[in-house]
Parts: sequence; structure tokens; C-alpha cells
Amino acid sequence: MSSSKLKARVELHVHIDGAARLSTIWELSKQKRIPLPGDGSFQALIDAVVSTKASSLPNFLHGFKYILAALKGDVKAIERVTYEMCEDQSRHGIIYFEGRYSPHLLADGAVTPSLVVEAINRGLKRGESDFKVKARSILCCILGKPPAIKLGIITSLILGFCNKWCREVVQLCDTYREAGVVGIDIAGDDSVFGPDYPQEYIDAFLEAEKLGIHRTMHAGEVGPWLEVDKAVNVLHSERIGHGYHVLDNEECYKEMVVKDIHFEMCPHSSLLTGGVSQTTLVHPIVRLANDRANFSINTDDPTITNTWITNEIQLLQQWGFTEVHLIRAKYKHFGIAFNAARSCFLPENEKNELIQQLKSVLGITN
Ligand SMILES: [Zn+2]
Repeated sequence: MSSSKLKARVELHVHIDGAARLSTIWELSKQKRIPLPGDGSFQALIDAVVSTKASSLPNFLHGFKYILAALKGDVKAIERVTYEMCEDQSRHGIIYFEGRYSPHLLADGAVTPSLVVEAINRGLKRGESDFKVKARSILCCILGKPPAIKLGIITSLILGFCNKWCREVVQLCDTYREAGVVGIDIAGDDSVFGPDYPQEYIDAFLEAEKLGIHRTMHAGEVGPWLEVDKAVNVLHSERIGHGYHVLDNEECYKEMVVKDIHFEMCPHSSLLTGGVSQTTLVHPIVRLANDRANFSINTDDPTITNTWITNEIQLLQQWGFTEVHLIRAKYKHFGIAFNAARSCFLPENEKNELIQQLKSVLGITN
């Protein structure tokens, strides 16, 4: 059996709200009488949410408004989509994944960010035992949320609110670290600030580092290479979400390779967001693979891209990737699956168990 069919995949960059089944979102929206796009049919929702051609990051993220409207402030619904995601991940050969989300974007009224985290933890726990997939979570700070309007006092009030979100995310990571939360992220449209990250994001990451919380962040996705430099050298991020534009600066790229920084690459998403131009002759993933850099393959938002890990691997195979690239472990424990496993945010003993599990599934004895 080809290893692409085996349960031998590890996914580090997937948004839980971006992995919700659209059938569930449609059903919940109908029940709650939430306005749906077009004629209100399931097909109209698919058309509004699924991204099918190269566009911009804001366009790519547009469909989230329907997903969030159906889930916001509803712990039962949040737990349900999380549980269903575990089933879908397992079906696509995933043995371990780190799902990420913003507790604040899913909170509403009496449903606080803490209650959101608890609902997701329950969904992951039930999903783990029912579908034999290991699942942990990463909590996201969101760039520019709520949006800052540059109007003096209003700006400072809004930024103050942002500030609170960042601080709370660090606290939530700390509080729930024994309950499945393994790291912190900064997500959202990385063109909002460019590399000029507001101080509250920097403070949050440095505080997380002090508390021993693992860190990853979206950088260099559609924004410039300098974001990657800042993410690693100023915010002390251990992994980079996307990071395609690091290749625009050879010196920075080489530094990241030497530092063994892990890049969470998302093939379909990179093309749909315009992060990587479709006319690019050599996709950054190909360059990283040739340089034996540390990276993984991820879906980012399966609901939006309409892909699962299997489809991402198929795209890589179209680009000439073989099982050697995907596994490469017989030569050196260095293939994509092993890079993902060794760069995950599990504690060392569980990480080693995961690597052993991969070896055993793939029949690797050394
Ligand atoms: Zn992402």
C-alpha cells in the first residue's frame, strides 16, 4: 500500500473553524435563522465559502463570516464541529494534528473565551477516543481584530481592547496547558501591519516564551520576508505559518534554514490567497524540499480550500514530489512527515512516541 494511504500524516497548521463541515454550518444557520448567502441553499453556501480561484487573503477569508455566525457563542455547536473535524482528519490518514482557533472570535455574550476553549477541548477529547487520532490545540491572537480605526481616542480604545485579547490568549494557553492547549499563534491578515507588529503582540509572545508556551505565527504569507525575520528574531516564534516570502531575501532564508526554523506550508491555500503567484515557476515548497529545510504540509482551512491532507499531497506529487520527499526517513529522519513530528508542540516524551508510531506505520526499523 502506498504510504499516502496509510495513517502516516501529521498536520500542524489547520484552523478548527476553517475545518467545519459546511453541511453542519448550513444546518445550524437554518436552525438559528441566520441569513445565508444567495437563495439560502446548501449549494449557495458552498459557492460563497469555498475558494476556487487565486485571489487575495481578505477574499479567501471572506467565507469565515458564515462559519463564525453559525458557531459564535454556541458551545454545543463549537464542540460538535471540533468532534467532526477529528473524524475527517482521521479519515484522511492523520495520526496527529494541532488545530488552531481564536477563542475570542468564537466567544459571544455569556460564552466567554474560556468556555470556548473548554468546548473545543471536549470536542478534541471525544474525537481522539472515537476516531483514533491524537489532537491538540493552539490559541490564536488575531492581527488587527477588532479593526483599528485611526481616529485618536478611538484607536487607543480599540488597541487597548486588542491588547486585552493578546494578554488573555497567553493566560488561556497557560491555564489550559494540561487540557490539550500546546501553543500560541498570531493569525489573520498579515498585510494588516506588515512587519510592524504592535507592541502588544510582541509582549504576548515574550510572555508566552517566559511561561514555556510554544509559539508559531503567520508571517511572510502575503506580507514581506521581514515579517519572518521579526517573527523569529523579535517575537521568538519557533515555527512560521506559511512564510513563502522569506525566499525574497536569500540571507534571511539561509538564516532560517541554519536555525532549523519549521515552516508550516499550505500548498492549495498559498495559491488561493495569492501568497504565491500561480505564475511562479518554482513553488517555495520545492525550494525548501531541495534544500532539505524543515517544513510540513498542511491544509490551513479545509472548508475554504475544499482540500484535505490527501489532496495537498496529490498536488505535491503533481509537482514531482515522491514518497522519498514525503517520508525520506529511510535515508535520514528528515521527510515531511518526520519534520512535522519533530517540530510539533507535544512534550518531548509524547513527541518521541509520535515519531516511533510513524516509524512503525511506515515499517521503518532503524
Ligand atoms: Zn493559517
